[in-house]
Amino acid sequence: MSDSLQGKTVIVTGGSKGIGKGIARVFANHGTNVAIVARHLDIAKASAAELDQTGSKIRAYHGNVSDRESMEAMVKEVVRDFGGIDVLCANAGIFPSVTIEEMTDQNWDDVINTNTKGLLFSLQACLPYLKKADFGRVVITSSITGAVTGYPGWSHYGASKAAQLGFMKTAALELASEHITVNAVLPGNVLTEGLEGMGEDYIKDMAASIPLKKLGSVEDIGYAALFLASKEAGFITGQTIVVDGGQILPED
Ligand code: NAP
Repeated sequence: MSDSLQGKTVIVTGGSKGIGKGIARVFANHGTNVAIVARHLDIAKASAAELDQTGSKIRAYHGNVSDRESMEAMVKEVVRDFGGIDVLCANAGIFPSVTIEEMTDQNWDDVINTNTKGLLFSLQACLPYLKKADFGRVVITSSITGAVTGYPGWSHYGASKAAQLGFMKTAALELASEHITVNAVLPGNVLTEGLEGMGEDYIKDMAASIPLKKLGSVEDIGYAALFLASKEAGFITGQTIVVDGGQILPED
């Protein structure tokens, strides 16, 4: 794959676990400096230490995407350490399940503040540095849920993920004059540490409903993000790539 991101710097929000860690690993394997951002610094540090074996520079930072000041402070630290920011992978997200009937204001606000407002705060904090990059890139981890499908218990989550795509289209237009592209990856069911704990039978059942008969790996999402962040993807903006093993294709 492209080596255009060698020596560049990527911030991966939610890079300490799951899909974000997979994104961080793929970028690190391609020579990109990686800033892993999460609320639990101890877990982020452990992931950074694990990925350090790739030979790229990896550092962990404390950051809460739903807190503007926290994002601004984190970005200052990253720029101090790496000298700039070329790519923002806005990946941090939460997906608690609650039905519409039982949804509280707090349930709604937690999801929207993290997944949607968190995207705004992450981008605003990085923007001054993305503008200075040779080719600035924003890659959002959205979801098939909300944009394409629904799932009981996830009305707030689906709304937050669809909202990310509405935001993306205008961001792509506003930032085009700065030569910054803004795109999104829409994962289907991905095998993360969280899902592994659900047991083999559960995972087998989920895999059976996917045309390619397996769940996605976190690196599958990482490779799509790496492509959208590459120099070669420079004429693609405001677009989505579905990475779901064909899950959304069947009519019934
Ligand atoms: P995960 O394993 O639960 O990891 C979530 C990551 O986000 C962790 O690093 C977590 O670290 C961080 N995070 C959560 N809230 C944060 C906040 N307020 N500020 C900063 N970091 C925060 O989740 P995942 O399954 O990998 O999901 C990652 C993204 O992919 C999400 O946006 C999700 O919507 C999307 N997605 C996942 C799937 C799937 O099958 N897993 C499918 C479609 C889309 P801390 O808790 O330490 O902050």
